[in-house]
Amino acid sequence: MNKVDRYAVIGHPVAHSRSPFIHTRFAAQTGQALEYGTIDVKPEDFEATMRRFFDEGGKGLNVTVPHKEVAFKLSSELTPRAQLARAVNTLAIASNGGLLGDNTDGAGLARDLLNNHRVSIAGRRVLLLGAGGAARGALAPLLGLRPSKMTIVNRNVMRAHELVEQFSSMGKLSAVGYHELVDEPFDLVINATAASLAGELPALPPGIVNTRSICYDMAYAREDTPFVRWAHQRGVARALMGLGMLVEQAAESFYLWRSVRPDTASVLAALTAELQAG
Ligand code: NDP
Repeated sequence: MNKVDRYAVIGHPVAHSRSPFIHTRFAAQTGQALEYGTIDVKPEDFEATMRRFFDEGGKGLNVTVPHKEVAFKLSSELTPRAQLARAVNTLAIASNGGLLGDNTDGAGLARDLLNNHRVSIAGRRVLLLGAGGAARGALAPLLGLRPSKMTIVNRNVMRAHELVEQFSSMGKLSAVGYHELVDEPFDLVINATAASLAGELPALPPGIVNTRSICYDMAYAREDTPFVRWAHQRGVARALMGLGMLVEQAAESFYLWRSVRPDTASVLAALTAELQAG
């Protein structure tokens, strides 16, 4: 039997993951005895590997690309926010011994915007780029902050319309295709597409931002992402990347597992320095 509680991030690929860096620091800071590793597993082996981890005494997993939807399906119990997101990024042992699935991405985004960057959303016009898992997970927390309106734009516009159907009871929400975006500036533009990961930029008309706009890319990198570069070129007030979202979603997972809320500011500072150092 392991004396130290075991946790890991499971994904494919996963070697690049910053989660061990973050959780190891959370544990040291809060005096929690745990170890946190990485598990690289292809989709066809996900279920068996994940179940073995828990059968052998593992306490919790962070789930990343491409397994979040399968983890959702395999969870025997779901938190309300995981149900809304239809994706699971955190697995824990439920009180009845089954698998509890949670999704902390949206809460992580909201905390990063509000607490780390002091971006207010109440009464603001928000444009959300993308309609994949990250966008779905962000919708309820963002609408809970009461923007005056929120527009979802996606290449496959049907996916954006599906999100509007699911979430429209929570706020003023609409869906458009990129060609339908008019030259009307938004206060906040959040990139929840996977475009940055491929070094690409969604087809954005220049007039959707002005010098008061804030742009936020959920993706993060050592250099500015194409979306952040685009935003700077248009002279926006601020262009931000999602490293803080990563740390904040990790803190939410840590809290679910350990019932202790770590201090994120010092870990975000350490992670930013590590990323800069390469
Ligand atoms: P998904 O694969 O679920 O969704 C991808 C989305 O991106 C779809 O809406 C897709 O549009 C769109 N897309 C992909 N390429 C392009 C492109 N070239 N131009 C325009 N749209 C494009 O990905 P996720 O939702 O899981 O992840 C989205 C992003 O969020 C990633 O960059 C990921 O790294 C980031 N993320 C960051 C986190 C953090 O902690 N900082 C946490 C979770 C995610 P279509 O439907 O038309 O194909």
